[in-house]
Amino acid sequence: MNTTAELGIVSGDRRSAADDYAIGSFPRPTGEIRDRVDTFISELRADKPYFLGFPANLDFSFSGLSGLLDIFVNNVGDPRSTEKAAISAKPMECAVVDAITELANGRPEHTYGYVGASGSEANLFGLDRGCTLLPDAKIYCSAATHYSVRKAARLMRKELVVLDCDESGRMDVDALADACRRDAGRGAVVVATLGTTMTGAIDDVDAIVDAAASAGRVYVHLDAALGGLIVPFTEHGTTWGFAKAEVGSLAISMHKGLGMPVPCALALCRAELVRTAVEGEYVGATDATLGCSRAGMASVLLWYALSDKGIAGLEQHARRALTTAEYAVTTLAASGLNPMRHRESIIVVFDRPAEWICRKYYLATEGERAHIVTLPHVRESMIDSLCLDILEPGAAVTRG
Ligand SMILES: *Cc1c(COP(=O)(O)O)cnc(C)c1O
Repeated sequence: MNTTAELGIVSGDRRSAADDYAIGSFPRPTGEIRDRVDTFISELRADKPYFLGFPANLDFSFSGLSGLLDIFVNNVGDPRSTEKAAISAKPMECAVVDAITELANGRPEHTYGYVGASGSEANLFGLDRGCTLLPDAKIYCSAATHYSVRKAARLMRKELVVLDCDESGRMDVDALADACRRDAGRGAVVVATLGTTMTGAIDDVDAIVDAAASAGRVYVHLDAALGGLIVPFTEHGTTWGFAKAEVGSLAISMHKGLGMPVPCALALCRAELVRTAVEGEYVGATDATLGCSRAGMASVLLWYALSDKGIAGLEQHARRALTTAEYAVTTLAASGLNPMRHRESIIVVFDRPAEWICRKYYLATEGERAHIVTLPHVRESMIDSLCLDILEPGAAVTRG
């Protein structure tokens, strides 16, 4: 995933040389293959106590569902459309889409959604819907927007207007208003981010809608990759997401907040933005998704996790993550590391430590600053040990 490179996360030295995995002309002995995979698993597991900077919740276990590894589950086409082969987990996918739609203040009967491969795909889906609705509009985003938006604009050959951020890291709405005045009459497709990747800043959707109005009709795509499972449990719980009429689509990465062994994301939009036509006759399903074959396993795992936790469990997650973020601010401040956190964010930015520490704790870095994400698997003791490492005499010296 390129996010890693872009954020400057340095993956450790634990990966063996590619040769260890080279596929030969003849089968490897089964025991050797098992050993390689087992080693791979234990290496990744061993790093869990240091997994502080990467936005993925590692607090999950699906090992009771290993039977899934021996069946083929393919959600081809729209979740609500039956497909010819009937080897899907679509009823589970629909239940997941409905639950998350309600969390986002949408009405399930008025919302289209599916489980996609990643937050980036869900952003592309939403922007495609917005640009189809407003074909003359440009896409507007801030400099802190995730790079998947640039990628989406490039794929759609759409003009992207990148606006500065204000001092708090949110989209500068005055700059947006200026840009939209220049584009009067074209309409505007604006990306608002609920939790920017690096600093966790939360764009002000109300202000964005007002600022963009001089362009004409406004379509907002909400990138809630990380914030989508936090904001519902804050004071904005009942006003965010589809509660705002201009919000046409929404993306939430599920491996980030919920915790999943495979990346996946919810792509949601207002139902009227989707044309339901049978796209590929051989499939027999209508298909407004960006995939064709989609990982049915992701839907089963999501359904399992959400059924197991309930909405109350998600709320508990969010509260714990926010409490841990507060703890991190206090602890990093006591260590003189100038922490900064936006309200309702679980990202804590602080002074960039030595490289070996960034590597040990998977810290995302940008310039002179680094960040951690206090997802539910992050314990206070992990933050303590990070601070101890930083304060240790000689910590600033690069280590092997
Ligand atoms: C991580 C992230 C994405 C991309 O999500 P993936 O699931 O990694 O593709 C998009 N937007 C924001 C704000 C993110 O933090």
